[in-house]
Amino acid sequence: MKKELFDFLNTDLQFVRGVGPILAARFCDVLGGRRILDFLLHIPSYVRPREITECIADAIPGDTIKIPLQVKSHKSGRFFRGRRSPTQIICTDKTGTNVTIQFFNGKFLDYWLEKLPIGTWRMISGKLEKTSKPTINHPDFIEELQNASKIPSVQAIYPAGEGLTQKTFSAIRDKIFALLDDKITLSNDTNECEFFDALRHVHYPSSTDDLSPQSPFIVKLAYWELLAQQSAIAISRNNRKAPQNKRILRQKKYNLLTHFFNTIPFDLTNAQKNTIDEIFNDMEKDIPMMRLVQGDVGSGKTIVALAAAIKMAEYGGQTAILAPTDTLAIQHFTKLNALCEKIGIVCDILTGRDKGVKRREKLTSIRSGRTRIIVGTHALFSEDVTYKDLGLVIIDEQHRFGVSQRESLRNKGNATDILALSATPIPRTLSMTMYGDMDVSIINEKPAGRIPIKTTKLPIGRITDLVNRLKIQITDGAQVFWICPLVCDDENVGTGNLATATDRHEYLKQFFPNAGLVHGQMDKHERDKIMTDFASTKSNISILVATTVIEVGIDVPNATIIVIENAERFGLAALHQLRGRVGRGNKQSYCILLYGNNISETGIKRLETLCETDDGFVIAEQDLMMRGTGELIGTRQSGWINYHFVDYREHRDLFRLASHAAMTTPVSDDWTHDLMFIFDQGAKISA
Ligand code: ADP
Ligand code: MG
Repeated sequence: MKKELFDFLNTDLQFVRGVGPILAARFCDVLGGRRILDFLLHIPSYVRPREITECIADAIPGDTIKIPLQVKSHKSGRFFRGRRSPTQIICTDKTGTNVTIQFFNGKFLDYWLEKLPIGTWRMISGKLEKTSKPTINHPDFIEELQNASKIPSVQAIYPAGEGLTQKTFSAIRDKIFALLDDKITLSNDTNECEFFDALRHVHYPSSTDDLSPQSPFIVKLAYWELLAQQSAIAISRNNRKAPQNKRILRQKKYNLLTHFFNTIPFDLTNAQKNTIDEIFNDMEKDIPMMRLVQGDVGSGKTIVALAAAIKMAEYGGQTAILAPTDTLAIQHFTKLNALCEKIGIVCDILTGRDKGVKRREKLTSIRSGRTRIIVGTHALFSEDVTYKDLGLVIIDEQHRFGVSQRESLRNKGNATDILALSATPIPRTLSMTMYGDMDVSIINEKPAGRIPIKTTKLPIGRITDLVNRLKIQITDGAQVFWICPLVCDDENVGTGNLATATDRHEYLKQFFPNAGLVHGQMDKHERDKIMTDFASTKSNISILVATTVIEVGIDVPNATIIVIENAERFGLAALHQLRGRVGRGNKQSYCILLYGNNISETGIKRLETLCETDDGFVIAEQDLMMRGTGELIGTRQSGWINYHFVDYREHRDLFRLASHAAMTTPVSDDWTHDLMFIFDQGAKISA
């Protein structure tokens, strides 16, 4: 790949004209990264026809329409109390019914008189608003009738996110592809041309078929995605086989483990004990450990990882514990430090926040080997950090790191042992292909004494009953999360009228005047303030309406009820994660899955799975078996595994082909390297 193209793909979206930092941040939430490449890998989930409607009476509010209209009069926007009212162009359809076209930007009347002269007919396309009189705001297209065919007959619908409309998506897509064309026309690499050509087809689909797993474009992209992954795994596997001078745990210097196990205030579960055995076994071997520990949230992975770190310390080696965020790093450090003080080993924390003298002191202590266990974010692997004897790297929430990251970490020590922890349960069949270079331990048992969350499903028609039940619970002191899939109506394009957080908040305020509201379009400080308030023991917010921003939010032990609206539109993984927001205290917790009227049979079955089990592995396995995920909020990703193009149900053959290709052909050619760059999950960390 030419450097020019490489740089282009790596460009921050905020530098694309019309994006800017605010929009780029919103894109980042949806795309998982903020480069042009991340945008390109995020493809539409389906296609909506943009059919011609002859008269407005036939159109359905909320739909995107295309209609011939005659311009009748113009009403310029006026300044009033410092704000400008919208410019209105009043038109009529062929039956004489009025349709108002509105523009909120400050163009002057002359401009509109010229663009839309009174008396002329125009083909106008845009979303018909759900207002009392027919209105289209900022039409997507205005064309003279003889040019009506210039208006595309379909609209690609992207899995959107908070604060991003379909219009924004298609506008940015057009800009990016215009720029990309210049770069590609110069390329004479056939693979490269084919790749971007396939991408273009899926970003400009002519029908939903172009986006199905069987579409030749999707098949091609999926194969390349798998080839990238399997090649990276093959490299990692080969590196492992090569002769290594790993530190071998032969000469014990201290006795710490017995003391450590004695200080734990509970009995380890059998699954924890077995996992610890497997880890210790690996550590004593002369090839580096590469082990993944999978266990649902709350299954007790931390203590298992700590045992490994303490064992390493017994032999005088250092351990680095890598957490995905500062908050998690601090949380780990606090727990760890309490333990380490008792058994007398030095541990420390290093994040991007440590600067100047403090940072230098910490680095010195790491270099001297005095600090035995060091917790941090990827700051742990900056160039200025040197370890005296790094024997073990522990990676929390492994799925956020790519294969190449794991390799670079290992290079900080001598054939360092690697232990990865993941709360994302992946069915065994798949973990072989996903983590073919790792050994896997599973913690499939929860510590005793937990009170299981009671999960029920309820049709939206019974919302009044639900509100009445909540009134009683809230009077008793309960706190409630109420999750909606969308923030406001603006995003409803293409999603089929889902519950919006703002509407639901208005509704609930009638019954619970102190209902709170948080969503991703809010100012971050404001949002944090409300969440912190909700979490505090003295909070007077009894019910918090939220979008999925709370999925990664804070702990609220007093929250015992979570209502998830339009539950049928969330992936099972997302629902399972959301449910994990409650049941953290010592009281009985409840999860209520509210579903809409259009729920499918598979939809009901999926919700039933959640009602029946709290076992992440069972849920993942079921999710894998069930089809009909098409109704999910615009995503082909299951949530357990984040492929861009691969559908693990439909692309089984491709898995086999790609892993065969990666094993038999050397992965040294340029195109495979380009693919590894394009699909590297690890690139997301630096975003
Ligand atoms: P996760 O697997 O999600 O990382 P943690 O390691 O954070 O889970 O453990 C969740 C909680 O359970 C912690 O407070 C931990 O101290 C506690 N815990 C871990 N193992 C056990 C056990 N065997 N018995 C009782 N409590 C445990
Ligand atoms: Mg954890």
